[in-house]
Amino acid sequence: VDLDTLDARISVCRACPRLVSWREEAAVTKRKSFADQPYWGRPVPGFGDEAPEILVVGLAPAANGSNRTSRMFTGDRAGDWLYAALYRAGFAAIPTSTHVGDGQRLRRVRIMSAVRCAPPGNKPATAERDACAPWMAAELAFVLPTVRVIVALGGYGWDAALRSLRDAGVRIPRPKPRFGHGARAEVETSDGRRIIVLGCFHPSQQNTFTGRLTERMLDELFADAKALCAT
Ligand code: SF4
Repeated sequence: VDLDTLDARISVCRACPRLVSWREEAAVTKRKSFADQPYWGRPVPGFGDEAPEILVVGLAPAANGSNRTSRMFTGDRAGDWLYAALYRAGFAAIPTSTHVGDGQRLRRVRIMSAVRCAPPGNKPATAERDACAPWMAAELAFVLPTVRVIVALGGYGWDAALRSLRDAGVRIPRPKPRFGHGARAEVETSDGRRIIVLGCFHPSQQNTFTGRLTERMLDELFADAKALCAT
């Protein structure tokens, strides 16, 4: 199995009835401003470099964002912030990510989410999170050999990243490191490689509108991630 095959398998998953209904309903009802656009309405695979040094882990697709466009963090405000920061850090080909075919390409970075279908209220149930964990594990298994830094977005991304790493046989410090913006956890793979997990506030409007997360904070975090890759 290669990454394309994995993506194809993920994109037809129907394991969570509530999320299948939600993602498909959003694709039919559509937000008014996107009424003339086709919606993806399916699980969203990871996007970016196939041998990344930096892995960005988010929560789940937004109903009118990547559930519409089919690309991680593409077509919503959180994505506007994330891709602009990746561009400023030199990881993205262009500063925006609006639709497949827009010319966006990521170098050294891959983005994936813990849950692959848009959940109501951006809150997946625990059973849905667990049902989706094997997809994250499968994708992580592909990219882990090259990953040096994991940027975990929000407490959800942080927990999901540590859980998936642990399940992949990576040694996690105990007690489990706590999430915070700029928090660092050093973990060790079974072959003795060090990976740094960096906590980052999620670039959701809740954080960016309130100033809890600023562009400067994101820039500093990706500068840290880049420096850690070089050590
Ligand atoms: Fe499948 Fe994950 Fe979507 Fe559930 S959330 S239907 S496990 S892809």
